[in-house]
Amino acid sequence: MNEYQAPTEDMLFALQHVVGVQDLAKLPAFADVGLEAIPDLLNEGARFFTEVVSPTNRTGDTQGSVRNDDGSVTTPDGFKEAYNQYVEAGWGGMSFDPEYGGGGFPWVIGIAITEMLTAANMALSLNPLLTQGAIHALAAHGSEEQRLKWLPKLISGEWTGTMNLTEPQAGSDVGALTSKAIPQDDGTYRISGQKIFITYGEHDMTDNIVHLVLARTPGAPPGTRGISLFIVPKFLVDDAGNIGERNDVSCVSIEHKMGIHGSPTCVLQFGDNDGAVGYLIGEENRGMRAMFTMMNQARLAVGLEGVAVGDRAYQQALEYAQERVQGATPDTPKGESAAIIEHPDVRRMLMTMKAYIEAMRCLIYLNAQAVDIAHHHPDADGRQAGQEMADLLTPLSKGWCTDLGNEITSIGVQVHGGMGYIEETGAAQHLRDMRIGGIYEGTNGIQAIDLVGRKLPMRGGDVVKELIGEMAQTVAELKDLGLTELADRIEYSATDLTSASRWLLEKGGGATNDGLAGASPYLRLFGTIVGGWLLGKSAVAAVGLKGSGEFSDEFLDAKVATAQFYANQILPQIHGLLPAIMAGADDLYAIPSSALR
Ligand SMILES: Cc1cc2nc3c(=O)[nH]c(=O)nc-3n(C[C@H](O)[C@H](O)[C@H](O)COP(=O)(O)OP(=O)(O)OC[C@H]3O[C@@H](n4cnc5c(N)ncnc54)[C@H](O)[C@@H]3O)c2cc1C
Repeated sequence: MNEYQAPTEDMLFALQHVVGVQDLAKLPAFADVGLEAIPDLLNEGARFFTEVVSPTNRTGDTQGSVRNDDGSVTTPDGFKEAYNQYVEAGWGGMSFDPEYGGGGFPWVIGIAITEMLTAANMALSLNPLLTQGAIHALAAHGSEEQRLKWLPKLISGEWTGTMNLTEPQAGSDVGALTSKAIPQDDGTYRISGQKIFITYGEHDMTDNIVHLVLARTPGAPPGTRGISLFIVPKFLVDDAGNIGERNDVSCVSIEHKMGIHGSPTCVLQFGDNDGAVGYLIGEENRGMRAMFTMMNQARLAVGLEGVAVGDRAYQQALEYAQERVQGATPDTPKGESAAIIEHPDVRRMLMTMKAYIEAMRCLIYLNAQAVDIAHHHPDADGRQAGQEMADLLTPLSKGWCTDLGNEITSIGVQVHGGMGYIEETGAAQHLRDMRIGGIYEGTNGIQAIDLVGRKLPMRGGDVVKELIGEMAQTVAELKDLGLTELADRIEYSATDLTSASRWLLEKGGGATNDGLAGASPYLRLFGTIVGGWLLGKSAVAAVGLKGSGEFSDEFLDAKVATAQFYANQILPQIHGLLPAIMAGADDLYAIPSSALR
């Protein structure tokens, strides 16, 4: 079984020549951070995640995390050691505020590093993922006192963070949660209730865990308007930062899952006795705002799982296809056999994986860079433009990339034939691990509703229109370079995006069943077109870089060929989605629920 090789060349190409990460140096926050160090950072990351983290992936799957009788959780062999080295190297904190101990790098660079961590071991990566979400929420909504107390140890990775939304009756409908928070005379709260599915809710990798918990105060309004967010540490911490007594929170059980076995998914009981001590973040009843900060960051990181795990599955499938000899192609000399990579159908599978992965990588990096601009642009207009772009791209990153992650890892199994179905090759682990991506952090159905109901209607649809305008510019550049077929395919596809967007806006977006019925195919169409556009941009960059010596001609030619494959073989599929988007809900409800057999 192959070990993961970080695709640093493609990462660098996407960062520097598609997304244009060096432009971030114009923002005062990143002027002195040293963006010229990116290639070295990626190379060092590649070494670290390949050598230190990747070897723990298989053990994590076969051993899994285990809950002990005393409620503690033991993670698989090697997890704690690999995590400690990750903390020592400072990888987790590189994109956070230097004032609290972070490295000050843009988020997009942190995302590129996280891609390697996730590909190396997705189950392990979830601990830093949730921690980073908690850091974002605290940094944006916590008081200065709270930031000083909790952020440095979360940023360094000495402590980890969790996100506690889900309860048995409150999944997609977060507003249905009932956990309670009772105010105390000393300004703290007592938290009680049960949370389910809490990732790394208990583990043995750090001395403390900082739970961010959604709960209701007495008399709070119903639904999401009455939810508040609290810091509930596993161990209480004194003003000097020393760990004190155990808080009233315990791990009741952990789930047995389809994949990510190394990641403990916990049922947490808050307040078995007097209630767990909790500290309010921001104001009462404003918890959803803070949680959205955390969720948006986490949604991007979950979308990244599609790229990372997809890429690992691709690398493994490619290696297998080069080695496995079976049958002959029409071109194979008589009496000989060919490696399966020579069969057109296997080529199609490999090219599909490769093209989607490269398109998704560009999308995720573009989205992360928009987050950087939203947070750090010196002008309010610049920040707003960054925020709008990040808001629009987030459901695409999360929904499209995890859907594709599932498809790509499944193709990875297919390339292996029967051996793909046999656990020993490891191909099946990628598929099992990836399957959760479309479910947590808001299911992909919820992402599609977000896209149609909230993001498409931004400024009456103008944010989408402006993005289509950017596509038109790439089309013009492709035409100038003589890549007319590629340009025409992207141009023609963008007209479908315009038609679908207009129809959905006219139908009232997420406010009608007709609009909601088209949401998922619209997300698929939108993501596929954005992917085509970004590969078109890649082709423009590749042609421009020819002869510069920065990348080999072989790499640059492959960029153009990949864009052409995507435009010819994948983009046309979206034309079949348009009728489904614009069909309305009648077909879906033609058979009454009671009559569905
Ligand atoms: C391994 C794992 C780790 C997790 N980690 C965490 C964590 O760390 N913290 C945390 O708080 N939670 C966590 N979760 C919970 C996860 O976020 C939820 O499972 C997810 O949000 C879906 O909620 P649900 O399971 O209740 O499904 P439901 O909400 O019951 O959804 C079932 C189906 O109905 C659809 N649906 C529901 N409502 C609508 C609607 N309004 N419109 C259209 N379709 C709808 C959904 O898309 C889905 O297909 C985790 C879950 C798992 C399995």
